[in-house]
Amino acid sequence: MSSIGSQGLFTRRRFLSWSQAALAALGSKPLFASTSEPVAAAYSVSSTDDYYAKLGVEKIINAAGTYTYLTAATMPPQVLRAVTQAALHPVVLKDLQRASGEYIAKRLRCEGALVTSGASAALTLGTAACIVSANGIAPNQIPEAVGAMKNEVIVQKAHRYEYDHAMLLCGVRIVEVVTLDDYRQAFTPKTIMTNFFNAAESGEIDRQTWLAVAHQHNVPCHMDAAADMPPIENLWKYTGMGYDLVSFSGGKGIRGPQNAGLLLGKKHLTDLAALNDSPNSDAVGRGMKVAKEQIVGMVAAVDWLLEQSDETNQAEYMRRTNTIIRMVKDVPTMKIDIFMPEIANHVPHLILAYDPKVVGITPKEVQERLRSQRPQIELNPATGSTGRLGPHSNENTIVVGTWMMQPGDAEVVGRQLRSVLMNPHS
Ligand SMILES: *Cc1c(COP(=O)(O)O)cnc(C)c1O
Repeated sequence: MSSIGSQGLFTRRRFLSWSQAALAALGSKPLFASTSEPVAAAYSVSSTDDYYAKLGVEKIINAAGTYTYLTAATMPPQVLRAVTQAALHPVVLKDLQRASGEYIAKRLRCEGALVTSGASAALTLGTAACIVSANGIAPNQIPEAVGAMKNEVIVQKAHRYEYDHAMLLCGVRIVEVVTLDDYRQAFTPKTIMTNFFNAAESGEIDRQTWLAVAHQHNVPCHMDAAADMPPIENLWKYTGMGYDLVSFSGGKGIRGPQNAGLLLGKKHLTDLAALNDSPNSDAVGRGMKVAKEQIVGMVAAVDWLLEQSDETNQAEYMRRTNTIIRMVKDVPTMKIDIFMPEIANHVPHLILAYDPKVVGITPKEVQERLRSQRPQIELNPATGSTGRLGPHSNENTIVVGTWMMQPGDAEVVGRQLRSVLMNPHS
């Protein structure tokens, strides 16, 4: 063996022993800080790692759901272990992007896949892919030159939403339609894509018809299904219907890293999306970088998810919901309901309706009280407000989501809710 070879071997051995030591350290010394005890035990983390404590940032109990402002989901231990492993070794980023895309496409039964920095980035990169495809241009033309090109995206008026911004930053123009007739007439030689917001509550044109008409005009359809898992089968249902591109958030129900997402669909389009993504610098997606840790975390989350069953998960969410119900059901005037949205956040939402005049505290005040107590509890943002859950919430309802709770949280939330509702002035 040459001296270079043996030196290489030596370096590699040293590196291996260092990385094994780092991994061993992760597995040692469980931290037992009061409320996070079961969580820390499940993940085997050390107290010296607690940067939330160091920074003075309160750890919350998530009784809301997969909300971005509450940092959405936590990663299961097996996903977190994969993230840690990935962090120990550099790789060629494009190799990892390509291999992870191929692996995910196979597992999720579609032609192509790209791990993005979230569903919002998936929508941007999907739009960029459709622009490049329709115009035969290079990614660096986006957005500056797009105004003078094929640049129209058709959307139902009822599907306009805050994530339109994700498309608009590519320089496209959104063309609104209401009726099916409008839709048929909206296609022009400048149409590059259509967008279907899967969880929209209204809109005259259903997802099948929407797709069929676009395909009659040879225009690709993107579907935003960001929050639409569970059920697990939705991860292949919409691409299976023929949607050319479908976006999912990685950090919501899928429980991957919060800054990860999936763009699934036709391979020629997911390949073009990658061309518009980091690490390519002269591209709209350069700021949407997904690090190796998040790419691997997303892959591991898909693997984890495919070992889960919707029935088992929903039964656990219901068990937590029932734990809370048992503790608050005898609050005066209390009426209990469980609402399960059809699409997006398709999990039980516990609705606690009561008369604030009789009980002596409004749902908004309960929300504030639980927020200021320790441990800090964050209720679903529909609490005490009309409209966010359609007819299911109003100023007299508390809304609790149990699916992002950690072991032991349901008991704490039930106890604190009961305490505040039974003794509002203490
Ligand atoms: C959450 C959400 C997004 C954004 O997802 P990220 O992964 O946070 O980028 C986009 N569209 C809809 C409908 C969502 O619910």
